[in-house]
Amino acid sequence: MDQPPPVTRFAPSPTGLLHLGHAHAALFAWEAARALGGRFLVRLEDIDAARCRPDFAAAILEDLAWLGLDWDGPVRRQSAHLDEYRAALARLEAEGLLYPCFCTRKDIEAEIAAAGHAPHGPDGVLYPGTCRGLTVAERQDRRQDGQPFALRLDMAEAIRRAGPLTWQDSEAGHIVAVPELFGDVVLARKDVPTSYHLAVTCDDAVQGVTLVTRGADLFAATHVHRLLQALLDLPVPCWRHHRLLTGADGRRYAKRDRSLTLAALRAAGRTPAAVWAMAGFTRAGFAGAER
Ligand code: GLU
Repeated sequence: MDQPPPVTRFAPSPTGLLHLGHAHAALFAWEAARALGGRFLVRLEDIDAARCRPDFAAAILEDLAWLGLDWDGPVRRQSAHLDEYRAALARLEAEGLLYPCFCTRKDIEAEIAAAGHAPHGPDGVLYPGTCRGLTVAERQDRRQDGQPFALRLDMAEAIRRAGPLTWQDSEAGHIVAVPELFGDVVLARKDVPTSYHLAVTCDDAVQGVTLVTRGADLFAATHVHRLLQALLDLPVPCWRHHRLLTGADGRRYAKRDRSLTLAALRAAGRTPAAVWAMAGFTRAGFAGAER
């Protein structure tokens, strides 16, 4: 059966200017859609109010347009959809899959030091589960005291409910989901009623994204997203994780590389075609694009 044309997205966080690594990610997603007559969406992942800035958001859209990328529909801003994330949290909470976590970073460090061992996951040390065992009364007391809390997924219970899961990556093939790698992930932070994992999963579903393209650094996160899709009855897209572009020193581009921001390259007189080439794509057709 013929596959419908893909819907892809580029989803930067407006915490800085776009650099060449972002250009690679944007071009990858745009090309994956446009080469097959599909839709390309742009989403600003701006839940971190302390770090995201409207001028960065404006500069990102400006840079994308300068590159010659066009997108379908309005840009989605996560900060405008907090109620949708709250609704997803309420559902998971009603199903007994979330618990409030009052721990500070220091509490977690102390707990880990006392335990004498620290299992690691893709995002660092795993949460030791301190607040999972609080009684209902203890939780209520602490909430009433006004103690700030995050909401964590009870990973063992979530996996038990969802059963075995797999996902499809067009580079890596058929993958068995192992969300337990992450332990009890945070689904709502203390300051905002969502987290990266929850917002991305809800947004990709509501935006009808069928092919999630993003950097290989987020490959493991997909295990968690696949689990959340199962728990929230959301459609399951395909994924394609692309290589991370590296500079001459072999290190991947990051926000610290100021000279390789698109703004700096533009100011230095580079053309869009030259920046496409630096980001690993050719502008004439898709022949030179990295696969
Ligand atoms: N906002 C994430 C980033 O800038 C990307 C999220 C995603 O593609 O899933 O790294």
